[in-house]
Parts: sequence; C-alpha cells; structure tokens
Amino acid sequence: MKERLPKDVYKAVHKTIKNGSHLELDVANTVAAVMKEWAIEHGATHFTHWFQPMTGLTAEKHDSFISPTGDGKVIMEFSGKELVKGEPDASSFPSGGLRATFEARGYTAWDPSSPAFIKDGSLYIPTAFCSFGGEALDKKTPLLRSMEALSKEAVKVLHLLGNEKVTHVDTTVGSEQEYFLIDKDMYLQRKDLLMCGRTLIGAPAPKGQEMEDHYFGVLKPKVSEYMHDLEQELWKLGVPAKTKHNEVAPSQHELAPVFETANVAVDHNQLTMEVMKKVADKHHYACLLHEKPFEGINGSGKHNNWSIVTDTGENLLDPGRTPAENTQFLVFLMAVIEAVDDYQDLMRVSVATAGNDHRLGANEAPPAVISIFVGDELAAVLKSIDDGTAFVGTGKTKMGMGVHVLPHITKDTTDRNRTSPFAFTGNKFEFRMPGSSLSVADPNIILNTAVAESLSRIYDALKDVAAEDLDAEIHKLLKKILDEHKRILFNGNGYTDEWIAEAEKRGLENLKSLPDAMPKLLDSKNVELFTKHKIFTKEEIESRYEIFLENYSKTVHIEALTMEEMVRKDFTSGLLGYMKDLTEESTQKKALLGDEGGAYETGILKKLDSLSGEIGSALAKLTEDTAKAEKREGLEGARYYHDVILTDMENLRSYVDSAEIYVPEKYLPYPTYGELLFSLR
Ligand code: ADP
Ligand code: MG
Repeated sequence: MKERLPKDVYKAVHKTIKNGSHLELDVANTVAAVMKEWAIEHGATHFTHWFQPMTGLTAEKHDSFISPTGDGKVIMEFSGKELVKGEPDASSFPSGGLRATFEARGYTAWDPSSPAFIKDGSLYIPTAFCSFGGEALDKKTPLLRSMEALSKEAVKVLHLLGNEKVTHVDTTVGSEQEYFLIDKDMYLQRKDLLMCGRTLIGAPAPKGQEMEDHYFGVLKPKVSEYMHDLEQELWKLGVPAKTKHNEVAPSQHELAPVFETANVAVDHNQLTMEVMKKVADKHHYACLLHEKPFEGINGSGKHNNWSIVTDTGENLLDPGRTPAENTQFLVFLMAVIEAVDDYQDLMRVSVATAGNDHRLGANEAPPAVISIFVGDELAAVLKSIDDGTAFVGTGKTKMGMGVHVLPHITKDTTDRNRTSPFAFTGNKFEFRMPGSSLSVADPNIILNTAVAESLSRIYDALKDVAAEDLDAEIHKLLKKILDEHKRILFNGNGYTDEWIAEAEKRGLENLKSLPDAMPKLLDSKNVELFTKHKIFTKEEIESRYEIFLENYSKTVHIEALTMEEMVRKDFTSGLLGYMKDLTEESTQKKALLGDEGGAYETGILKKLDSLSGEIGSALAKLTEDTAKAEKREGLEGARYYHDVILTDMENLRSYVDSAEIYVPEKYLPYPTYGELLFSLR
C-alpha cells in the first residue's frame, strides 16, 4: 500500500486501520483501483468478499473485474463501493432465527485491518458479515467489537497509571495448529473419515503413542516435503508460518505462526486450515483437522497464545524491568485472573463443539475445568501480595513489595506445565482448550470481553483516588482481587482425579459436554457482559445459542447415520465373509478329521457369532433411537444426542472393535488403525 498509494490516501487508510475511523468514498475508490492493478498484475481476474459465517468455515462469492463498455469490448473495473460493501444472498447461512428467509439480504463490509490476498486467480477481501438490520451473522464482527472494547478499557486504566501516550491497544494472537496426515487412498476408503472427519469404529493398532517416539521426531522425507510446500503456499498468502514439528501421536504434526493482531491471526488461521488440506491433496495425503480422529491416541488442539500490546509497542503481559512496568503488569495480570475466574463458563462455552467434547477431560487434553497456571515464580509474587509480606526473589537480591520489582519471568520457568488449560508463559497466556478445527475467533471474543470487563471494574475502583494514594490503593485492590479469585489458580497436574475433586471443592465449573455448557451462554451475568460492552445484543446471543446446539445435534446425527451404514454394509460384509470361510473350513476339516477337526476355526466362529448377535441388537437400538432423536429440538435434542445416541454409538463400537480384532484385513473394505496410522513414508 505504501508503495502504490498516493501519500495522503495511504495516510487516510492507515488512520482507518488504526482507529477504525470512517473511510471516504474517494479514498476507497483510489484504494480499489490500486488493489485491482496489483491483483491483475499477479494474474487475478476476479475479486471476492471473504467472510466467516457461523458455520465456522469461510465463505466467498467471486465476481470478475470485467465490465462491458457497450462496443463489444470490456474493461477491468473495481470501484470503491465494490471494495467496501457487498451483498451476498444470506438466506442459506445459519442465523439462528435472526433473519427470516424472506429477508435474505446480508451485507459484507471490508475489514481494512486484515490484509487482502490473491488466491486461485481471485483478489480476496476480508470482510465482516451482517444482516440487513446490522446484526452480526459471522465471527469477525463480534471479534472486532471485542478488540475495541478491550482497547477502550485498557487505555482508561493505562492513563490512570500514568502511561498517557497510549491511545489504542491491540490483542495479539498466535495459534499453534495440530493436524494428522494420512494416506489419501486409505482416507477415501473410510466413510467415517470422509463424512465425519473421525473414525467411528476401529480396534487399536498394536502400537500407539506409548513409545513416545514421534514427538519432535525426525520428519519423514515426504512429510517434510509436504510441510515445506505448505509453508511456501502460506507465505504467498502473507501467513507467517514459523515452526513445524511432529506431535505426540503417530502421523500427528503441528504448525505455529508468528503472532499477529487477533483479527488477522484468526483470518490467517482459517487460511492455514484450508491450505493444509489443499496441499495435502497435492501430496496424496488427507489432512485431518478433527479434534479426535482416532480413539486411544491423542486428539488435536489449537493452542491460542494471547496477549495485549499497546500502540507504543509495549506488551502489557510482560513483567518488564522497572517498578512502573511491574505495577502495570500486575494490574493487567490480575485483570486476566479475575476475568477467567468470573467467566470460566464462557471460556468453556467458547471451545465447546461435538468434536472437542471427545478431547477435553479425556486424560490428554486439558480437563473441562478451567484453571490458570502462573508458574512458581509468579505464584510466589502473588502470594506475597496476598500475605502483604515482602517478596523474596529466587535471585540473590531481596526485593521488597514496596518497590515491587518483579523478577524477569523467563519462559523457561513458567512453561513446564502442559496440563493446564490456561497457562502464563512468560509474556502471554496460552489457552489450550480450543479444538483443532475451531475458529479461534470464539475464544478470543470471550477473553477480550471478559478482560475488558475486569479492567473497567479496576478503573471504576481507582478513578477517584488521589494521586498520592494511588500506589497504596492499587496494592489494596490487587490484594482484594487476588483474595477473591485465587481459587482459579492451580499449578499442579490438571489431568488427575484429585484435581477434579479439589476443583469441585473450590466451586469451579466442570462443564463436561456441549449440552452441559451451552445454557451458560444465556445466564444473566453473561448476557449483561456482552450487552454492556456492545459485543452482542440479547438477540444475537440467543441466535448463537440456537446455532451451536443445532450444529451439535446435526454433527452427532450424521455420525450416527454414517456409523450405521458403515457397520451394516462395510463391516458386516467383511465379518460375514470371514465367518463363511471359517464355516467352510471347519466343515471340511470335520469331514476329513472327524469331530475333533477344525477346533481353531470353530473357536473363532463361536466368538464372532456371539459378537455379531450383539452387533445386530446394538445397531437396531441405534437406528431406533436416531429416529426418535430427530423429533427433538434445541437443548432437549442436544441432550438426547449426548446421553442416548453417543452412548448407543459407544456401545455398538465396543462390539465391532472386539470383532475386528479377529477379522483379517483382506476381508474389510477399508483400512484398519494400524494401516491408517503407520501409512506415511
Ligand atoms: P510452545 O510450543 O512452547 O507453546 P511455540 O513457539 O510453538 O511455543 O508457540 C508459541 C506461539 O505463541 C507462537 O505462535 C508465537 O508467535 C506466539 N506468541 C509469542 N508471543 C506472543 C504474544 N505476545 N502474543 C500472542 N502470541 C504470541
Ligand atoms: Mg504451546
């Protein structure tokens, strides 16, 4: 932009990006013309407004730049109006009742703070998506609103603390993305992977992840080629992919980008997921982004690293080295602690999906209970605030709380706990609950808004304090906040049953599933939070509640139908084929050797015959219950899918998996776990 735009236009756009100020149409016209030129030079013929409806995916509708001139010729045109605003038909996107289908119009509005990019011959313009009445129909609109809310409250507090140069703060996000790669042909043979993204049946392979030989292991040459190609493609789109490595489970990998402003990071993460799949296809792989593709080995998550940075370049979650920086840090740290404790239910809601329910609390990912890990060093600092005693650092110098010089917290001393759902890692927090396929917009909306709220309370408590008393009052306030919220701090192992019991004693929420969590969205304290900070109207919250529940029920419904079909057709054909061969074999042996003959075959046959009976009844029950489930809606429906259908599926799976152990691979029309997980060269 700096290279190509006239200076004054560049300044105007920059101002809009920084302050969200209105962009004049003539400025937009110039930007559009320059964007078009740039795009055409790079081979683009079309443009598209690119948005993030409530499906959690991205959406696009392409228009060509072509415009007829009336003399049989065309010119390539792109106006400021086309750049700034679009009108896609919105009727087929989920709206949770916000927009009746007769009012199908939806609007997309350019988000100039997220860079446009060129992909597959089109100029992509990141946009927000809303209804005719201005209600948010997407994930970007509330995210931008939440960033604004956080900025507003943070600036007020910073000014109060004497940091007056700051006029704006941004949320920064870096999301580590986990994924599985498997052979494409094998993927295409499994209906469960094709339709649901996860395996619904399958006995464990003889080897899983118990040898711990995959984590950070040497990259296989072909996988390494894939990762290299993936990075190149991401860099072309402006996505700053940075690190790559093997993860814990066989065939599991991770990619982490350099952190960016939250809304750009969210856009880039959506692109990352899309490009991961596309490049996989080219390399004859399938990329699985589901939270739990395989039972018995680790699922995939998406660690959301989050911090706040001022427009003067200061990371507000960095302890800093001077007393003033320390106070500021402690204030913001405490604001986060209060926010996470007060809105732990919303944090849980923000990561609730049918897929992620298989992860949270399953002894690998963080538990469904939210707690904060701060590390020993910071815990000692907090304790000294709480006790009102002097803090004695781990270093040689004795530091009195009066001067409150904090030790410089290094990543090394804080990042050892991998079981915490929300961990302080030196200069940022890492939220480890989001699932691998989630749009990170959701958790960041909650984090930003909740922290905006606690900052606003801090401001209210301090705003009328006289300058000379400020220091003392801040310390009193920090102590009070800590006292009220220390129950959320936990440095131990989050995977143990003792912690779950202890958490219950502390009164922390343990919302195990989406149907357990979702009603919290409508709690009056949460509705108040969203409406106060203008993130959602009450109607928008209710619509999202409907959408999340419906999405959950539909997902489980499709899984149930897929499982029925796969067991009834694919598995049964294999099972019966094998049983037929066993029968023939043992009959022949008996004819030849008498009653003693074919004992081995008969043994397996008996076992399989009994299991096939169980499979038949479990399958019938699942079919019957699925028909009943269809009649239920909303929360009642989701609960039914959770309590009845998922239990039926588990039950059916246990018989199928027990039988699969006996059935040789060649009888099954799809690959087994062993083949899937160890297929990559
Ligand atoms: P680890 O695996 O130990 O968590 P990584 O280096 O894989 O560490 O990932 C750390 C992630 O945190 C990266 O995406 C990085 O860009 C991001 N990050 C670093 N600093 C910040 C910050 N101030 N705000 C947001 N994200 C950050
Ligand atoms: Mg991490």
